[in-house]
Amino acid sequence: MHFVTTVNCMDGRVQLPVINYLRERFDVPYVDSVTEAGPVRVLAENAESPETASILRRVGVSVGQHDSKVVAVIAHADCAGNSVDDATQRDQLRTSVALIAANYPGTRVLGLWLDAEWAVSELLHAGGE
Ligand SMILES: [Zn+2]
Repeated sequence: MHFVTTVNCMDGRVQLPVINYLRERFDVPYVDSVTEAGPVRVLAENAESPETASILRRVGVSVGQHDSKVVAVIAHADCAGNSVDDATQRDQLRTSVALIAANYPGTRVLGLWLDAEWAVSELLHAGGE
């Protein structure tokens, strides 16, 4: 496997921590990035929205064309695109992981949380192997 996939926030502070974490965690050279402002808000609020469809379509390119077997969904502290409390973001993360896993059953889906120091915690797993 050469690629894994991230559904990450567009926030510049979280790009390198997530990419570095995933490259090391899965020993892969490349991380395909699908970005939104607060992706877990988009995915958890409306599974039928055009924004959700766009995220899923782009994940599908990574899974289908790059043979990615891992999709990591990210939520983080101080998210400008999702100004709700951390507990709510974690609930949204859980819903988002389930949605991605349901749409891409052959993949392992992770829910990652980045705290205010940009440390990465792996909170959730679904699917895979
Ligand atoms: Zn954000």
